[in-house]
Amino acid sequence: MPSAKLQVPRGTFDVLPEDGQRRRELTCSAGATLALAGYGVLETPVFEDTELFARGVGESTDIVRKEMFTFEDKGGRSLTLRPEGTAGVCRAYVEHGMHKLPQPVKVWYSGPFFRHETPQAGRYRQFTQIGAEALGSDDPALDAELILLLREILAPADTRLRLSSLGNSETRGAYGEELRSYIRGHESKVSEEVRARIEQNPLRAFDSDHPGTREVMAGAPRLIDRLDPEDAEHFADVRALLDEVGCEYELDPALVRGLDYYTRTVFEFESPSLGAQSGVGGGGRYDGLVGQLGGPPTPGVGWAAGVERILLASPEIENEADLRRIYVVVPAPEKRAEAFRLTQTLRARGVAAEMETAGRSVKGQMKQADRVGATAAVIVGDELEVRNMLSGEQKVVKGIEDILTPV
Ligand code: AMP
Repeated sequence: MPSAKLQVPRGTFDVLPEDGQRRRELTCSAGATLALAGYGVLETPVFEDTELFARGVGESTDIVRKEMFTFEDKGGRSLTLRPEGTAGVCRAYVEHGMHKLPQPVKVWYSGPFFRHETPQAGRYRQFTQIGAEALGSDDPALDAELILLLREILAPADTRLRLSSLGNSETRGAYGEELRSYIRGHESKVSEEVRARIEQNPLRAFDSDHPGTREVMAGAPRLIDRLDPEDAEHFADVRALLDEVGCEYELDPALVRGLDYYTRTVFEFESPSLGAQSGVGGGGRYDGLVGQLGGPPTPGVGWAAGVERILLASPEIENEADLRRIYVVVPAPEKRAEAFRLTQTLRARGVAAEMETAGRSVKGQMKQADRVGATAAVIVGDELEVRNMLSGEQKVVKGIEDILTPV
């Protein structure tokens, strides 16, 4: 029986070299931006104890209820492929006693994340996030700094920024009650899903696409009008700092994020060009999370952005060849060793160099030199010749020094 064709699992994809280069460049430039602001690299495992996400992300969230890839290891432990990065960062902060370091502790990460969602354009089961977190200070300057860093990283994409504040758990609790009774008062008009979750998480009703629910929620009381004085002041300060540097945002009191741990500031960058999956990156403050995971009470703020969506929302920029790239042409088999040595020498001198390895004719090799974007071809014949791939000019040279001098 012929075996079934092997393919990537549903919702996953291979990154081929052309796309791989763009992804690498994005991560490198994000890392450079974050390093300038004092963020260090923190790497955590791609799987953690399931309990971390249940406690950290929240039992009532979609992520924990239906989207986690959970499995049992051979020792009977329940493990989960990480669906997001903040819980792991907070675990590491507690585990390594980072509260004893000078605060805030500022870190960033990038890597694969996993959610069992229905795949569609811009939504995958394995995706890549770049994230940044600042723990140990509740200064609104950190909220503003992180928003500006994300804005800079997303600059090539066409995005708009939505901003709000969720206050603290007490005001949120009281507001939740107010909202519950408001939704109950309009129960016949809202969707079944919203009705089923009035008790668990009434805030999620703001997320609904259901027309009746949307109409009801347009008249709902707003948390942003119920903030206690300290939270209101904190939010005013975040906004003042963003205004200070001319960062534009839309105040969106209905902004709800899919994770339970947020307090105070929340934000999201959206790209209209992405259609249904328009969120490119977002985050907020989570002042209770470290405490909830068993650490000392520690404020925190951070964000995560999806690499795939950033690239989908960014125009492709043709990279100008800013590099000398040499293709080493092997006109005859007996020249192969010499060509090999020359290629190694060029690379050792910092020049991008590739040698023919597919047995093409000299003409075919010249075509290949063009395809790989070589700026020059070096023909290792009885004499050493250099051809400028842009002008077509070709001349005999004496040795490597002449090759390194631009033709
Ligand atoms: P979240 O952790 O849900 O706030 O997501 C942060 C960012 O990660 C989003 O703005 C997306 O860019 C990206 N993201 C989240 N889920 C997915 C997914 N299933 N597929 C692709 N990107 C995702």
